[in-house]
Amino acid sequence: MTKIILRKGREESLRRFHPWVFSGAVAQIVGQPAEGDLVAVYAADGTFLACGHYQIGSIAVRVLSFDSDVLAPDFWEVMLSRALQVRRSAGLFGSAQTNCFRLVHGEGDNLPGLIIDWYAGVAVLQAHSVGMFRCKKQIADALKKVFGDALLAVYDKSSGTAPFKAGLDLVDGYLYRSEAFRDGEREVLENGNRFLVDWTEGQKTGFFLDQRENRALVAKHAAGRQVLNLFCYTGGFSIYALAAGAAHVDSVDSSAKAMSMVDKNVALNGFTPEQHTSFCADAIEFLRKVPEGKYDLIIVDPPAFAKHRGALNNALRAYQRLNAAAISRVAPGGLVFTFSCSQVVDKEAFALAVFSAAAQTRRSVRILDRLNQPADHAVNIYHPEGEYLKGLLLYVE
Ligand code: SAH
Repeated sequence: MTKIILRKGREESLRRFHPWVFSGAVAQIVGQPAEGDLVAVYAADGTFLACGHYQIGSIAVRVLSFDSDVLAPDFWEVMLSRALQVRRSAGLFGSAQTNCFRLVHGEGDNLPGLIIDWYAGVAVLQAHSVGMFRCKKQIADALKKVFGDALLAVYDKSSGTAPFKAGLDLVDGYLYRSEAFRDGEREVLENGNRFLVDWTEGQKTGFFLDQRENRALVAKHAAGRQVLNLFCYTGGFSIYALAAGAAHVDSVDSSAKAMSMVDKNVALNGFTPEQHTSFCADAIEFLRKVPEGKYDLIIVDPPAFAKHRGALNNALRAYQRLNAAAISRVAPGGLVFTFSCSQVVDKEAFALAVFSAAAQTRRSVRILDRLNQPADHAVNIYHPEGEYLKGLLLYVE
């Protein structure tokens, strides 16, 4: 097996169980690993540290084990069982109200580069590394063992996430389909609300599972309110608000496909067109034209404005502009639920952008709650970079 030998003193982060080896820490590579190969990492003094998937780029190795330089034959089964146990203990697997959740959250589940979302029996897999992409068949086999008959299908949706390399067959498709499986949109339940999920055509793995608890919080505050849901995707927040008795909900997204799913989800949950209006529009343009005071609950959940550090300053300015527009227009005594899912924008930086936005409007703003990602989007304590979703619930006087 290829050996990666680190520079002197560069083993400290691995000793603290951080799961990445940066290429700058590597002194020597003994062997000629192909990208995605399992390699063993050693300190300069020859001590074994970890094994993991080799990568070409700024991260050279993503660690799979700190204990052994080989993966046991049942490695995937054991790791997936542990991930499932976390979701079971969080009350997600086996719940009568919720049958969709994130089963594997990369480093958060000690499986760097792997995302698996569970949609009522269908596991949608996204490899973010060549190593995980090359293991997808083994992962699908392990899913069958862990879930048994409860597993209807495994869909690989890595074409947009696996780093492209010649020789990789980057075509999305099913890795497994049981006899009971029927293709097409699938209906899932989240906190008792019904949603259609289309993992083949939809964004990410099909649904934003990370907003489940924040949607429930919106529901707590939505009764009787005029709600505006900006960047609504398939209408997650909208359906919860309607179910909680909102007076009316307007949903806005620039994706026509997403808006047609919103309409289907509104109907699926038994709401009428009088209760809900869809707008396929740019959310920022839409907000600019909103009369002040029209809405008393506004949700702002934009896509990641910064995908890398270089984009940080522009992203912070964009968050500030967007939040100033929302805060200035919400009715007196109204609420703004505002989010950022940019990993490089930490919660302090985001709070500062929202603070600047509030100051710009000169309104009195109280922070009622600080919001984050739920338990199934687990954060490994040794890998704080796994924390990405943050939000604030604001009361605007
Ligand atoms: N709140 C959603 C998830 C939002 S993801 C939920 O609970 O499911 C971000 C969404 O913003 C995507 O649906 C994307 O289509 C949309 N989007 C991106 N840029 C936009 C823009 N300028 N105006 C409106 N929508 C936009």
